[in-house]
Amino acid sequence: MSAPLAPTLLWFRQDLRLADNPALAAALQRGGAVVPVFILDDAGEGDWSLGGASRWWLHHSLSALDADLRSRGSQLVLARGDSATELRRLVKATGAGAVYWNRRYEPAVRARDAAIKAAFTNEGLDAKSFNSALLFEPHTIQNKQSRPFQVFTPYWRHCLALPMPEPVEAGKGAVTHFPAPAKWPASLENAALGLLPAIPWDAAFGKVWMPGEAGAQQRLKQFLRGGAVHDYDAQRNLPAIEGTSGLAPHLHWGEIGPRQIAAAVKALGKASGLDPASNGARVFLSEVGWREFAHHLLFHFEHTPAKPLRADFERFPWAEDAGGVKLRAWQRGLTGYPIVDAGMRQLWATGWMHNRVRMITASFLVKHLRLPWQHGAAWFWDTLVDADLASNTLGWQWSAGCGADAAPYFRIFAPVTQGERFDGEGRYVRQWVPELAKLPDKYLHAPWTAPESLLEFARVKLGETYPRPIVDHAEARADALAAFKALRGDIIERDA
Ligand SMILES: Cc1cc2nc3c(=O)[nH]c(=O)nc-3n(C[C@H](O)[C@H](O)[C@H](O)COP(=O)(O)OP(=O)(O)OC[C@H]3O[C@@H](n4cnc5c(N)ncnc54)[C@H](O)[C@@H]3O)c2cc1C
Repeated sequence: MSAPLAPTLLWFRQDLRLADNPALAAALQRGGAVVPVFILDDAGEGDWSLGGASRWWLHHSLSALDADLRSRGSQLVLARGDSATELRRLVKATGAGAVYWNRRYEPAVRARDAAIKAAFTNEGLDAKSFNSALLFEPHTIQNKQSRPFQVFTPYWRHCLALPMPEPVEAGKGAVTHFPAPAKWPASLENAALGLLPAIPWDAAFGKVWMPGEAGAQQRLKQFLRGGAVHDYDAQRNLPAIEGTSGLAPHLHWGEIGPRQIAAAVKALGKASGLDPASNGARVFLSEVGWREFAHHLLFHFEHTPAKPLRADFERFPWAEDAGGVKLRAWQRGLTGYPIVDAGMRQLWATGWMHNRVRMITASFLVKHLRLPWQHGAAWFWDTLVDADLASNTLGWQWSAGCGADAAPYFRIFAPVTQGERFDGEGRYVRQWVPELAKLPDKYLHAPWTAPESLLEFARVKLGETYPRPIVDHAEARADALAAFKALRGDIIERDA
């Protein structure tokens, strides 16, 4: 009788789902037992170990994945420490003959994973990686000059001309049982990973989010079948309504993959009679395309999480912020600009901020306060449940005007106008800045312009119950433009 096939270690990372999971499909196809593993490896993330909100998400997502695995006769083995060391220990403990995982694209992680693959292959192990996270992996896409794209529209046009990849399944129908090893290796308890915050600032997260594969599918269904996708192009800019999918944290952790989203959009007509070719569906898919583009840029321009893509911006004359007073006011939603403050408070309370308001708050930090975009990126990294190195870097460099396809630096979002335009009835500001709730719409986005009698009626005492603006818009705008001109002059002088 031949010996049973040695087990496969299935190394879960940002692919915390069972459907459309090519590493899992390959492990099942290989045969033998499958040992699902997650390793918390902070050092392996380089400068970007998980932020607080991501840790909260991960804790719950791991619980959900473990429950899903247990319902299939399996379980999730948890470990903490250096990935290579822990994998090697688990290979030894289980007698595994293969280690399979799905790829990630962050520079430090790529380097780590490449070293692990090379070492294991050298040692005779079957070490393989797969694509679960993207429609189009960055190394497969290039422009006509064989270089990476730096502008979204031609990038996405190029991608859409390629065959749209379909979800990868392990076999026909859902696999209801995963072959288990004769003996399970020791696992840490989820709580021992210490992912939940010591101070419970995450109190409201659970009311908004349901981490895990089931939560992701529920969001997708709600967004597509509920019909929001139909009006997405019109509604996606209005922060007071649920006009977007809320899928970003699920996508980041791989609880759902873009192949599944693309397939669900394509099937819209059949499922609900909605038009998959509608403007809403097309724009929604193109937003998923922005996520792809973000990964493309991070892959090809590894320095961008820390430094601007456009090197000239490295010398941008940022403003002084003695004692970090302005940064703190921004972080806490106390800038005196209601739409900015509403966004920053939504972020703190729920771990998420509407995209339009992300653009407004980011622009305010970088242009009105003239503080380095890296400070803002670091705060978002810590507080967003969807914190993602590729998308966060792209969003911040775009807002700062120093990245690919960026809004020009001199285009400065005016917070009052933005508020009036995208939150005209003030529902968003009233929800997140309740101390202004009684102000009439006309003054809600600029309370300092309200007559004293109205402020009194609305029980607003500027400087006491709500701050006065920490900078004057017109002055801040002029200063930002002057700083930009000085930099541009510098560039012109140097290039001359
Ligand atoms: C300063 C700044 C920082 C950002 N940081 C992040 C981040 O850390 N993580 C993150 O996922 N997104 C980030 N974004 C992009 C965007 O704001 C969020 O993806 C979006 O708000 C998530 O909400 P949703 O899932 O409802 O999106 P939807 O509007 O439903 O879009 C569907 C999906 O497309 C992707 N997507 C949408 N817009 C973008 C975009 N502009 N760039 C990249 N992907 C996009 C997301 O995966 C999203 O879930 C940032 C944007 C800005 C301006």
